[in-house]
Amino acid sequence: MFKKILVLSILASSVLFAKLTVTTTIYPLYSVVKEVGGKNVVLNNLIPFGTEPHDFEPNPKSMALLSKSDLFITSGKVMEPWSTKVVKSMEIADKTFDMSKHVKLVAHKEFEDGKVYDPHYWLSFDNYIKMIKNVESLLIKKDPANKKSYEKNSDAYLKEITALQTKYQTLKTCKNKKVIVNHDAFGYLANDYGITQYSISGMSPDEEPSAKQIAELIKIVKKENIHTVFFEEFASDKIAKTIADEANVKTDELSPVENITEKQNEENVGFVTIMTENLAKLKDAMNCQ
Ligand SMILES: [Zn+2]
Repeated sequence: MFKKILVLSILASSVLFAKLTVTTTIYPLYSVVKEVGGKNVVLNNLIPFGTEPHDFEPNPKSMALLSKSDLFITSGKVMEPWSTKVVKSMEIADKTFDMSKHVKLVAHKEFEDGKVYDPHYWLSFDNYIKMIKNVESLLIKKDPANKKSYEKNSDAYLKEITALQTKYQTLKTCKNKKVIVNHDAFGYLANDYGITQYSISGMSPDEEPSAKQIAELIKIVKKENIHTVFFEEFASDKIAKTIADEANVKTDELSPVENITEKQNEENVGFVTIMTENLAKLKDAMNCQ
């Protein structure tokens, strides 16, 4: 009899205290769920830390993660073209949330017919705020018992993000609002602050430019008095270095925050830290006050 009660109470407590398991794709989604979900959520990132998300392909491990998740948040079909098929074959449409449908998208400049949107929408603070609010409602809907905690976490994170957004306003006053970056990840940020973005690769970091395109970029660096060529952590910096050497300027890292390393995640170096560093680097590159 005693044994039976014990077993039943263990079962009851595991149901009562079962945490919500959430799986996200790109790091910006992970970061929002980590902040808003806090201790109430078991969070998995599908795209491993320290890797370049444009190249990601799901494997059996990803499928296993998804099958035990209560919620799957994807950034959308442009960054994750594999997601539609995976969601369909695993029959998880009812627990999948496509964030691209809940933010303000702009067409990618390579595809002005508007059929392909620029997938780097988290680099507009207005969109990042929308992501936080969406995650807050989602978590409350899935786990209403912890509503107060999600609201509190979301409010605190929104305060941090809006304070950072205010700091970014200073970019509007920069003297030379032209940047050269590794791949076309900064379109939303460029739109928000009136910056012209030149990129070495296209929409994805693995698109290699031709010799003619490289020569053109060297010309732009010289003509526009650009003194920094930006590279990014999870892609080769070879071409950025070549351009900088030819134009006799420096290189620096600018993160599109598509991903971070496992070590950064453990040390809580996240979106806010990296975007604060990015701001300092952009101010230097664009001769700001
Ligand atoms: Zn990208």
